[in-house]
Amino acid sequence: MAHIVVIGAGLGGLPAAYELRHVLPRQHQVTLISNQPKFTFVPSLPWVGLGLRSLDRIQLELAKIVPQHGIEFIHDSVTAIDPRSRQIALKERILKYDYVVIATGPELAVDALPGLGPENGYTQSVCNPHHAVLACEAWQQFLQDPGPIVVGAAPGASCFGPAYEFALLASHTLRQKGLRDQVPITIVTPEPYAGHLGIGGMANSRWLIRAMLADRHVDVIDNVAISHIESDRIYLSDDRSVPFKYAMILPPFRGPSFLREAPGLTDAKGFVPVLPTYRHPDFDSVYAVGVITQLKPIENTPIPIGVPKVGQMTEEMVITVTHNIALDLGVVSGPPIRPTLQAICFADFGDTGALFLADPLLPDQEGRRHRAFTTKGMWVSWMKTGFEKYFMDKMRTGWTMPWFERLGLRMLGLPLVEPLPVDSALDVSRPKILS
Ligand SMILES: Cc1cc2nc3c(=O)[nH]c(=O)nc-3n(C[C@H](O)[C@H](O)[C@H](O)COP(=O)(O)OP(=O)(O)OC[C@H]3O[C@@H](n4cnc5c(N)ncnc54)[C@H](O)[C@@H]3O)c2cc1C
Repeated sequence: MAHIVVIGAGLGGLPAAYELRHVLPRQHQVTLISNQPKFTFVPSLPWVGLGLRSLDRIQLELAKIVPQHGIEFIHDSVTAIDPRSRQIALKERILKYDYVVIATGPELAVDALPGLGPENGYTQSVCNPHHAVLACEAWQQFLQDPGPIVVGAAPGASCFGPAYEFALLASHTLRQKGLRDQVPITIVTPEPYAGHLGIGGMANSRWLIRAMLADRHVDVIDNVAISHIESDRIYLSDDRSVPFKYAMILPPFRGPSFLREAPGLTDAKGFVPVLPTYRHPDFDSVYAVGVITQLKPIENTPIPIGVPKVGQMTEEMVITVTHNIALDLGVVSGPPIRPTLQAICFADFGDTGALFLADPLLPDQEGRRHRAFTTKGMWVSWMKTGFEKYFMDKMRTGWTMPWFERLGLRMLGLPLVEPLPVDSALDVSRPKILS
């Protein structure tokens, strides 16, 4: 019997626990540890920050939904991990494992810039549920006495879509309330150009994003680093500054301290290096999924930025890791698999939306992808809402990735995973163009 422990019950960890339970016979034990009592659908947090969604609607009580599927649920924080002795320390006990799946998502590096909030600074964030609630409270106050808004990302950030979503949704909401004329909105981003998204080479995304921002009178300052923030002004590294009454600045991400402190487990920022099988290169018992996995920047940019890890990629990693652990345990046969790492992201802008697709996320050595495009339309906003409901239902019922979803994605030319020749399972090079 093997004991598989999943750390973190977010978009990666909860589906991983369900998928492992689904694939592995009952003699193997699956344990899910979360430092939060609830699962949160993170992609909807920009809506929460602007008061357009209640947090309740995008959260699920883990103790109610997880144990009924034959998974042990522990509500506790992992404080240390020793991959050599295969042990995890919780606040008051030690847990032994045969395999661990690290799915902690990021720790927010809110100390990266002086003045970066929300706790010890002046800006808001929508990267976790607590921050989204604080952002919403500040937003309600702001509506009483509006002024300039700045939305953006700190240098080293890797998740830019939510900044555009937040800025354009704020613009739409203010227009509906008749307040838009009183509120100049500026986007400040370390991306080399607005719409780069940490991905680059996204064909028309640069022009589409720029046109959408211009149409809605949102100013852009790109290729710039924020140096520090004071109570009403954001200072830039080129000596400019931008005033604000409300600011939402996405922080850089890093791995949680308990991972950074485990010798040999992570890179300097706390991200877990992985082989194409999503197993750690040095520790056979360690797998990782989601934001915590290490992905090197796709290209060098004047101001360093990271690569976004979206929900679709996280689901691909979950299927990969489950299959490869089942293979190790002799439960399935055949070759190991790897995720295809296709990035699909829907963003809602209120009166329209944008779909970004990079297939695969990581281009080959010549910088080529199968396809990369951005398109817009109200249908994208509807799809985003529909997808939230669908994903919440999946997590409530423990379906994970039902056959019709896998089939649908395959028919759209978006296979989630692909077989890996056994002798290349240790090949850490970038995915090859498949056709
Ligand atoms: C604001 C925002 C908007 C986004 N919008 C989109 C979008 O529109 N579409 C899209 O595809 N992707 C989007 N993403 C990306 C998407 O949310 C991530 O890909 C996804 O959440 C990654 O899942 P994860 O499991 O790695 O992390 P998370 O979902 O963050 O889950 C990690 C969990 O681990 C827990 N944890 C952390 N440390 C410990 C510990 N020590 N012990 C126990 N538990 C711990 C955390 O509390 C958390 O519950 C967005 C991200 C952000 C921040």
